Amino acid sequence: MKIDLEAERKEILNRYKILIKACKRRLEKGDKEIVRKAFEVAVEAHKEMRRKSGEPYIYHPIAVAQICAEEIGLGATGIVCALLHDTVEDTDLTLEDVKGLFGEKVAQIINGLTKISGVIDNTSSIQAENFRKVLLTMSEDIRVILIKLADRMHNMRTLEHMKREKQMKIASETLFLYAPLAHRLGLNNIKTELEDLGLKYTNSEGYYDIAVKLQETEPERKRFVQKFIEPLKEILGEQGFQFKIFGRPKSIFSIYNKTKTKGVAFEEIYDLFAIRIVIDTPLEQEKSDCWKVYSIITDFYHPSPERLRDWISTPKSNGYESLHTTVMGPEGKWVEVQIRTVRMDELAEKGYAAHWKYKDSAADKESKLENWLQRIREMLENPDPNALEFMDDFKLNLFSDELFAFTPKGDMKTLPVGATALDFAFEIHTKVGEQCIGAKVNFKLVPLSYELKSGDQVEILTSNKQTPKEDWLGYVITAKAKSKIKSSLKEQRKKTAEEGREIMERKFYKNKLDFTLQNVNDFCQFLKIPSSQELFYRAALGNVDIKEIKEYIRFKNNPVKPGRKTVTPKIEQLVTNARGSSDMLVIGDDMQKLDYKLSPCCNPIPGDDVFGFITVAEGIKIHRVNCPNAIKLLSNYAYRVVKAKWLNDQMISFLAGIKIIGTDELGLVNNITKIISSENNVNMRSIKFDTDDGLFEGTIMIYVHDTKHLNHLMDVLKKVKGVTKVERIDEKN
Ligand code: MN
Repeated sequence: MKIDLEAERKEILNRYKILIKACKRRLEKGDKEIVRKAFEVAVEAHKEMRRKSGEPYIYHPIAVAQICAEEIGLGATGIVCALLHDTVEDTDLTLEDVKGLFGEKVAQIINGLTKISGVIDNTSSIQAENFRKVLLTMSEDIRVILIKLADRMHNMRTLEHMKREKQMKIASETLFLYAPLAHRLGLNNIKTELEDLGLKYTNSEGYYDIAVKLQETEPERKRFVQKFIEPLKEILGEQGFQFKIFGRPKSIFSIYNKTKTKGVAFEEIYDLFAIRIVIDTPLEQEKSDCWKVYSIITDFYHPSPERLRDWISTPKSNGYESLHTTVMGPEGKWVEVQIRTVRMDELAEKGYAAHWKYKDSAADKESKLENWLQRIREMLENPDPNALEFMDDFKLNLFSDELFAFTPKGDMKTLPVGATALDFAFEIHTKVGEQCIGAKVNFKLVPLSYELKSGDQVEILTSNKQTPKEDWLGYVITAKAKSKIKSSLKEQRKKTAEEGREIMERKFYKNKLDFTLQNVNDFCQFLKIPSSQELFYRAALGNVDIKEIKEYIRFKNNPVKPGRKTVTPKIEQLVTNARGSSDMLVIGDDMQKLDYKLSPCCNPIPGDDVFGFITVAEGIKIHRVNCPNAIKLLSNYAYRVVKAKWLNDQMISFLAGIKIIGTDELGLVNNITKIISSENNVNMRSIKFDTDDGLFEGTIMIYVHDTKHLNHLMDVLKKVKGVTKVERIDEKN
């Protein structure tokens, strides 16, 4: 397709002329030249660029400038900035160039516009917090925000050229940020159009459903409006008012919202439109004239007493002034009537920028703008929840999977739903998270695992003695908190291991064993410990015995030859990680690895003092030396007894029984099971509790690695409140 460049050049100039016409009223001496210059710079800068629609890119800045002039009412500086708004970001033109050509002020606004797109447009998930920050920094000059709104307005009007997912993103963002912002700034027309277009692209079915119905019912509505205003026109004219009276349809977006929130059908909505009366009257007579009109109308149509809104005496915070009433119209229908002056109407449609028109001196313009700006700044900085009211528009509606919580100073934090007080602490700062001991939510003390709700105010309590604990990992859901806790735990473990290293070094030294990498690694292998760090860590916890070092030295000097296998032994089903049984015991004077069987009568486990007994049918059987049978065996069959010794092996579990006796305390059973289940590598096989007249007796069968392990567990159990005795039992039950 050939592009007719000459025709395009003409069209660009044509559009420029329309723009100049639109802002002529507001241009002062010399303004026209500077606008022309901005136009030429922008045309040159964007000359190679085209929009998604294929049109020359410059159409966009001209359209944005047009919106600024016509719909927002900005003056020369605003128009210049609108024309240049995409140059620094998208073309070779630099901020310095702009400053050189147009001065400090224009450069400052362009810089602000470039920053906004950096913060808002490029983030995948928009956060109200980000937005607030942007507003705070950008409100240095409100024109930054106004031009950004005009930019967004034009992009929404031309959104059909974008890809579907881009449409969704831009439209949601518009509903989330820009429409409420336009509302807040009193730019009613822009707000309404942004909302309608936003709905059109996020929910086109809902949009067209209402749009079609509105169109279908239009003739009927027109007829009704005519019937309603006819008599009023006559009376108002007789009274000498200069006025306009007309029907104003509600926006598709607001009708859609009404059907959704109130659950009513389109047909049931009575206020699909409002009657607006705009009178032309001098400033000092505004209030009394509006009330005069009110009086005339309510003489004719009966008003609903509950539905009178006087925003003339007390304007809305966004500057809106108007008098609203609802009256009973023809055919028994309620009709909303809005009474206002031309000034109020322009203000309502164009916002504060419209003020400029009604002030003459430049100083007045400045002070008005300054006052307004000041109010917006205060609103953004003030932690008073009422001042943050407009943020409610954003909260949760579109981002229901996020929640917003506040620091005691009113800073907002955005967290995923389900986040806890501890997540919040890590969100503030890693250090705050690591030292967190608790939190106050809305002044009430809560545990670390407390799940936050939107709007919660959270004060984190810290102590410099606190360090992250293993179970914290169960209290947090944010990736940030999880990774910080994990790395802190790892760090702690590493530190402990470093202490353990010194302990190991001393132990080696005492046993005249060189503390070399080779020896350490061999020792680890001998103990079947996966790494030297693990060994040092155990050493620090006091879990490496001198005896083990001695055994290792002995083993090192006289390695055992692999034993011969005769019978494949059955080491019960208790062995969780079965390997050749011969690995666990060395038997006989030369400490060979022979096959054996653990005797069921005393149920030996590694660490027990044991001996082997050679049987006729079942080979070597291993008994504990304090086995009730042992004395008999040792005295009668001494020649059949062989020495036996355990090799260390953490990987295999053995069944052992523990008997617990105590007083029947509340929660005793719970405490005991909690301890056992919190121990590493302990599995309970069975548990039986009996209580008799306040006395408590429990039998627990558990799988443990060795006696050290078992004794440790028994020691811990002895400390449980109410427990008076803990002993090992032999019989399995
Ligand atoms: Mn743009």
